[in-house]
Amino acid sequence: MSFQKAIISWFRKEQRDLPWRHTRDPYAILVSELMLQQTQVATVIPYYHRWLTRFPDFQTLAAAAEHDVLSLWQGLGYYSRARNLHRAAQAVVATHGGRIPADPAAIRALRGVGRYTAGAIASFAFDLPEPIVDANVARVVARLIDLREPIDSAKGQAALWLEAGRLVPKKQPGLFNAALMELGALLCTARNPRCDECPVRVHCLGAAAGTARNLPIKKPRKKRIDLIEHCAWVLQKGSVLLEQQSGPRWKGLWKLPLLNEAPRSQPLHSAEYPFTHHRVLLYVHEVAPPSKPAANQAWHKLGELDSLPLTAPHRRAIEKLSAP
Ligand code: SF4
Repeated sequence: MSFQKAIISWFRKEQRDLPWRHTRDPYAILVSELMLQQTQVATVIPYYHRWLTRFPDFQTLAAAAEHDVLSLWQGLGYYSRARNLHRAAQAVVATHGGRIPADPAAIRALRGVGRYTAGAIASFAFDLPEPIVDANVARVVARLIDLREPIDSAKGQAALWLEAGRLVPKKQPGLFNAALMELGALLCTARNPRCDECPVRVHCLGAAAGTARNLPIKKPRKKRIDLIEHCAWVLQKGSVLLEQQSGPRWKGLWKLPLLNEAPRSQPLHSAEYPFTHHRVLLYVHEVAPPSKPAANQAWHKLGELDSLPLTAPHRRAIEKLSAP
């Protein structure tokens, strides 16, 4: 049996029932793909349903206020994805009359849409024979071709995309791409690939060479760097002082005000969270209310923060500090 037939027939039997697999709507597929970047499937599912209920199409999303868009994204992290989705919707409405064109180059021109996401929309929504390489596909393909280049190097990426392009069939490319991803998620997993159950084992050079478990190879990791963030806990009449971010990291989101230097007091709360290759050490100190808040600061009632777009680590700190 051909590679393509074998993997598609396995997929038809074994695939997980995921909501975005029931649609060919390019908007819903774009939403799911952006949510799934850096976030687990189980976490994404309720967000995906809520999002499509609140913003069912490009027009509704394009017309929404950024505050509402960020609020609904709250908890998924990496807010630039929400902002990009918002801008992409505005571009689809302004340039394409509210419908994504069945053209990979035009899809890729949208904000936040890289080569993988463009391939996913082109193949899942329009059945165009475009390859996709995400983390699951990269692992599967690297093993299939026994790739000895790091998959996060330019050479490794070029080899993966070339092979994924060679494999994708003209018939049912969307189904094939979904099957390749699912193989990586269910059988060809990072640790302990289940080669004995694999429908494409006879095609797999890594399994034949006994190298599958050691693949893919990655470049050595960058050393993690610690960053220290001192923030203020300022309360007044049941309200907390927050400041809105304008930098690229958390643009538009609210957080506890940053202190320029470490106070001598013991922090009320400390926590750590990851940010790219950094580990941020957050310390929150009790500070007296200022006579006048800064231009980017405002008082917010403690009981009314649910709909406010807050950064996740700062929301956790506020919840802990305001708990009875
Ligand atoms: S045979 Fe093993 S390594 Fe090769 S694709 Fe299948 S699960 Fe992955």
